[in-house]
Amino acid sequence: MKAIYPGSFDPITLGHLDLIERSSNLFKSVIVLVAVNSEKQYLFSLAERIKLIKNSIQHLRNVEVDSFSGLTVNYAKQHNAKTIIRGLRAVSDFERELQMAQINHSLKPDIETLFLATASEYSFLSSSVVKEVARFGGAVEHLVPLSVAKALREHYQSLLS
Ligand code: ADP
Repeated sequence: MKAIYPGSFDPITLGHLDLIERSSNLFKSVIVLVAVNSEKQYLFSLAERIKLIKNSIQHLRNVEVDSFSGLTVNYAKQHNAKTIIRGLRAVSDFERELQMAQINHSLKPDIETLFLATASEYSFLSSSVVKEVARFGGAVEHLVPLSVAKALREHYQSLLS
């Protein structure tokens, strides 16, 4: 069975990576689907977000990365995937995630959303929090893959020079 893990991944964190690794144990193949949303402002370009994910999943043989600008359920249908994976960190995630799962169900009832609970050590972790810490020069090596920490450092240093 194939699953899709969609998100912004701006940038990928160790919380995302934990979910990808756990999903790769559950499914024959997993596609990490990077969102292309012209309404959203991203720190990293689509190409950069994809590259940072690829660098971080080299050890996972059954995981690939792709991008899509339409509805996730349409991508799932086109790629014959029956499951959409999403992560739940805290109650604050629940309302939005439930709404999204229900709208997706109304669009394509044969595609299921599967929620994985965050590992407790990453329950506070989000891409936004990481960007906030990095912006003020804080250490993020324990929160993101090393290539992401480097990319964040370079990004914020280039803004200072
Ligand atoms: P989106 O903009 O679609 O929410 P994100 O990249 O922020 O994209 O998140 C993608 C998915 O990963 C979401 O389901 C989110 O709840 C989940 N996620 C984000 N951070 C973590 C984390 N630390 N632990 C578990 N799941 C997470």
